[in-house]
Amino acid sequence: MNSQQHQYSQQHWHRREGAAVDGAVVIFDLDGVISDASLRQSFFTVDPPDWDSFFEAGALDPPLADGLALARLVSAPIVILSARPAAVRDSTVEWLVDNGVPFDLVIVHPPGDTRSSADFKSDEVDALLRLGFRVILAIDDDQRNIDMYRGKGIDALYVHSGYYELLDLP
Ligand SMILES: [Mg+2]
Repeated sequence: MNSQQHQYSQQHWHRREGAAVDGAVVIFDLDGVISDASLRQSFFTVDPPDWDSFFEAGALDPPLADGLALARLVSAPIVILSARPAAVRDSTVEWLVDNGVPFDLVIVHPPGDTRSSADFKSDEVDALLRLGFRVILAIDDDQRNIDMYRGKGIDALYVHSGYYELLDLP
């Protein structure tokens, strides 16, 4: 197995059949950008927060009309890079298909990885670059991720979801 096959075979990666294998891509975050996670916030009113239920309920999220429209307008291949856990990778892919969200790659948080969203996303971006992808734009609703992208010299567009003013999401 070469390094490229190894990368795609990881539990937290999903590659669409026929997807791009290199070149320009646009990265979209999912929750708060394309998926409306606001209806799941009741899982935070319990102590401790019920993270498993929070992420599992993502399968029922309505799409955000503006984020979905933007994704459909992008002509470059799309990488969905989300801090959702690997346990919901497949349900996330189903949700994207069911809602007509275009994507080439879906990358979520690796199993057992407790690093911050920005640290995890930074490593995944580095992996994409090693595979020959070029990130021409990243879109996210977490300013820490925006700062990470810009620190790598990647243009990044901040979307205001309001989630981070209320909650300490991973
Ligand atoms: Mg988000």
